[in-house]
Amino acid sequence: MNKLNPGKPAVILDRDGTLIVDLIYLNDPDAIEYLPGVFEALRLLRDHGYVFAVATNQSGVPRGLVDVRNLDEIHRRIQAKFAGEGVDILSFHSAPYMTDNDHIHRKPNPGMLEEAAAWYNLDLSRSWMVGDRMTDVEAGHRAGARSVLLGTSEDVAGSSFDPPEIHAMNLLFAAREMIARDIIKP
Ligand SMILES: [Mg+2]
Repeated sequence: MNKLNPGKPAVILDRDGTLIVDLIYLNDPDAIEYLPGVFEALRLLRDHGYVFAVATNQSGVPRGLVDVRNLDEIHRRIQAKFAGEGVDILSFHSAPYMTDNDHIHRKPNPGMLEEAAAWYNLDLSRSWMVGDRMTDVEAGHRAGARSVLLGTSEDVAGSSFDPPEIHAMNLLFAAREMIARDIIKP
């Protein structure tokens, strides 16, 4: 980061259980189902100066349950759908590794966030990672960002990871809270 070209604040989003229904190893582009409020939430964040990327663990690929061509098509369709809703998702980052693989790109490691930051000159210290798992929360923290946990599927107090800065029922509530904390002017 430098003064002449300051990095942008971003919201980096988990995919399954955050933007779309978690169908467990989604492999069918026709089965994508968007969660309530996601388009409104990202338009609101867009209007307050954030840019977007998606970071998704995909252990279904090495398991043989998700075909990489389908994965690419799913991401192409999600990107096109959000574009039609006025929201530009810069990039989709996926980590096609097994759950026991400690690859730098597999959340809770920060590699996908760092990749997005390098490609788009993001200022991670002013950015947020949003997901429905404590591994998402930890990936955000390891990248030097702040983290949002969605929903109630995780036991925050029982986790070995640090708690999220924001815990919200869904992405729209989370968006309002992120904006309230940052007060980035449109
Ligand atoms: Mg998820």
